[in-house]
Amino acid sequence: MSILNNEFRSEFPVLDQLVYGKRLAYLDSAATTLKPKAVIDSINHYYSKGTANVHRGIYFLSDEATNKFELTRQKMTKFINAKTYKEVIFTTGTTNSVNLVAQTYVRSFLKEGDEILLSQMEHHSNIVPWQLVAEEKKLKIKVIPINEKGELLVDEYKKLFTEKTKFVSVTYVSNALGTINPVKELIRIAHDHNAKIFIDAAQAMTHFKVDVQDLDCDFLGFSGHKMFGPTGIGILYGKESLLEMMPPYQGGGEMIDTVTFEKTTFNDLPHKFEAGTPPIASVIALGEAVSFIEKVTHAKIHEIETELLQYATSELSKIDGLRLIGTAAKKTSVCSFYLRDIHPHDVAALTDKEGIAIRTGHHCAQPLMKFFGVPATARASLAFYNDKADIDQLITSLHKVIKLFG
Ligand code: PMP
Repeated sequence: MSILNNEFRSEFPVLDQLVYGKRLAYLDSAATTLKPKAVIDSINHYYSKGTANVHRGIYFLSDEATNKFELTRQKMTKFINAKTYKEVIFTTGTTNSVNLVAQTYVRSFLKEGDEILLSQMEHHSNIVPWQLVAEEKKLKIKVIPINEKGELLVDEYKKLFTEKTKFVSVTYVSNALGTINPVKELIRIAHDHNAKIFIDAAQAMTHFKVDVQDLDCDFLGFSGHKMFGPTGIGILYGKESLLEMMPPYQGGGEMIDTVTFEKTTFNDLPHKFEAGTPPIASVIALGEAVSFIEKVTHAKIHEIETELLQYATSELSKIDGLRLIGTAAKKTSVCSFYLRDIHPHDVAALTDKEGIAIRTGHHCAQPLMKFFGVPATARASLAFYNDKADIDQLITSLHKVIKLFG
């Protein structure tokens, strides 16, 4: 059983430490994943040996930085199977990718009275940007309902479409529940109704292969830090034809072709959407994260995470009075729960002292918490570098919490 003796743990230096004198059980990968040595080394190399700006210099270091920077774009193009590198835009993360599309595509092409569909399980990042533009443009937001297991109701989704529905945005995987949505079907249905669709893939990239051509999504966004890469870097994928017709998001250097005080013309894709000096070290290191995932393989990740999820679910279910929130048939290795009537913050404050890192709160999904009638949950989210001992540590600690609260 690979979760007994996980060969990958040693690739992640963070795991090699004690917290409060205890073994660190990092169970918060849905918030951010740990970084493998290859990614850390890459950042270190850029700042210690490779510092230079990109696209501007003709000297050695600038050339090298530019090549490595653009290599990440090539790797990413292949990784998500985009048709061309022009469809891969560097952003600062999923949130930024959503805002870009809201403020360019939706702001420019939707009219008063048009409708946007979002689901009940969205992260605030996939709600608020649409609300901001909806308010300004007088658009209507409608919500796709879910069931008690945390699964999206596809038949209800179909019923929400009218001739005014022009845009849909849904998450591939829920950060709070782990639910994997049937996005290929959701995309087909949106296209049957002539609506464009954005897929929030923030929680998807580490767990399985995402193929934008197979999905046929119009836009897709994700964050580097949730796929073993650095913070502050993310991707917006968009179909070339749509990106071409969209106005720029931000103005500045790099995104222009010619500038006069009378008129500015814009750079070609993808640079049209990349104003200013980018986070160069982070982009280069993101390329290392992609290579790392390819080396480990999605198949291996799936195998380990499936085992971890089964074991964690079965052990958590044995605890009297523990309510698992999010029991979809298809889910990633996320276990959200509510323990008796103990507030999740109390649970996490006590498990923290045992060296366990779990997340508590509304997980930036307040409408979802409202649906389940809880103010917050405790969430253990597992990645392929976790092992059985991490889960056992959590279970032992939860029993101590119960004892303490009587
Ligand atoms: N969507 C989902 C489903 C997420 O889990 C997150 C991060 N928790 C985001 C969007 C926002 O990602 P970021 O903060 O990296 O922009």
